[in-house]
Amino acid sequence: MTSNPSYLIIGAGVFGVSTAYHLIQKYPDASITLVDRDAYDAESRVAASWDWNKVIRADYDDKVYCRLALEAQEIFKSDPLWQPHFHQTGVYWNCRSDYAQNVITNHKELGRNDDIIALPVAEARKLYGGIFDNADYTGVKEVLVNRASGWAAAGDALRAVTKRCLELGVSYVTASVTNLEFDGHGSCTGVKTRSGEILSATHVIVAAGAFTPTLLEWSAAKSGNPGLRAGERILAAGITTGMAQLNEEQYKKFKDMPVGFQGYTPAEGKPFIGTLPPTKDRELKWWGSKIFTNTREVLPGHYISSPPPTHDYNQWKVPGPLKQDIVEARNLWYGPESATWEMTKHRICWDAFTTTSDFIISPHSASKGLYIATCGSFHGYKFFPVLGKYITQMLEGELAPELMGKWAWDRQRPDSSQNVEYPNSEMKHLLEPAAKL
Ligand SMILES: Cc1cc2nc3c(=O)[nH]c(=O)nc-3n(C[C@H](O)[C@H](O)[C@H](O)COP(=O)(O)OP(=O)(O)OC[C@H]3O[C@@H](n4cnc5c(N)ncnc54)[C@H](O)[C@@H]3O)c2cc1C
Repeated sequence: MTSNPSYLIIGAGVFGVSTAYHLIQKYPDASITLVDRDAYDAESRVAASWDWNKVIRADYDDKVYCRLALEAQEIFKSDPLWQPHFHQTGVYWNCRSDYAQNVITNHKELGRNDDIIALPVAEARKLYGGIFDNADYTGVKEVLVNRASGWAAAGDALRAVTKRCLELGVSYVTASVTNLEFDGHGSCTGVKTRSGEILSATHVIVAAGAFTPTLLEWSAAKSGNPGLRAGERILAAGITTGMAQLNEEQYKKFKDMPVGFQGYTPAEGKPFIGTLPPTKDRELKWWGSKIFTNTREVLPGHYISSPPPTHDYNQWKVPGPLKQDIVEARNLWYGPESATWEMTKHRICWDAFTTTSDFIISPHSASKGLYIATCGSFHGYKFFPVLGKYITQMLEGELAPELMGKWAWDRQRPDSSQNVEYPNSEMKHLLEPAAKL
């Protein structure tokens, strides 16, 4: 640590905002700046963290994330800043592997006695007024029901915590970062924005979600330091979500539903498919089974997966085959009656993935003063309240060895074959006329 540290955080999603929130509480007088292409209170943002709702659960078969998710969930349930956004509806999870038993074992070993059980299918489908009676139970071994889990109004919570950061003294700059800046020794000193403004700090933290590999690619080319590139470490990919407007009668039926998950195994070739209880506007959301890369030329001769090069990542322009993916995912839950539901929204949400779904929270090995904090890998939101605590520990070299190893920039990277949540297709192939979804 220098005697007068300053922090520049690129990206005001959950990784960036949580970092700012923890830093400003620890160092009330420090210079802490969030820079994001979108205003924090914009009508529409590209952040994966900006959403109507996200699942907040601690149902993990990985013990480390189970513990962290419990820590985060406690804050969602008790802290007045977070609590208004949390809804404890429970989770109903169709398990086609030993997932349920592994989760229950983790909870026991962590000394928890939440209301969490595994039920045979016949018994489970009668729960919650039978709303999941028409779901797909093919290959389901048992159903995990955890009444302690739920969901959060994601965009509202993100806005509220960002606003609190600003009240506490964090600065917010709305600008697109085009490259990182370096001194003559290769140390990172700040960023340049699209309008040419230079923002400087002693600590530069890249928390740019799906855009991280592109920003690093641009910065590598500009600085002549190829070691900055993400390479195989990070893959940007999109997932489609859909929302249906329920009428008064349908809303009555679904308003007390839990979050639903269809859990698949690698052999079935689908990710977990989730559906969330209706929002206050009576809209019910779920996501599709395609997690797709978008390989494009981000610099002459440099091809990587990157969100479309428009300000809004074309997130609202959802092509027909991806809408069809949403129809098929809906049918895994709601059966024939849902065919008449009025679809109000389709969105493509872009996130950054690693082969094991472990985050990257680490110094960058190719430049002093540069840190990476992202790769939510389709499950990062729920850790919002605690991410910044661990990112601050990383910045100060105090991260526990277990987490340091798990989240390191340079680490062993198993292939993705056992990870059902890893991108499974390329967008342009899905959109070809012959594509079968
Ligand atoms: C469809 C979908 C459903 C999900 N559901 C859940 C769930 O239920 N529960 C859960 O826990 N997780 C869920 N996730 C995962 C979770 O949303 C993400 O892992 C998490 O939000 C990622 O946070 P982030 O801060 O890394 O990235 P983001 O939230 O994407 O934030 C990155 C920010 O960087 C900014 N940025 C990018 N490039 C630049 C630039 N060049 N200049 C300036 N700013 C820039 C962007 O504007 C953005 O605001 C889901 C993800 C998706 C896609």
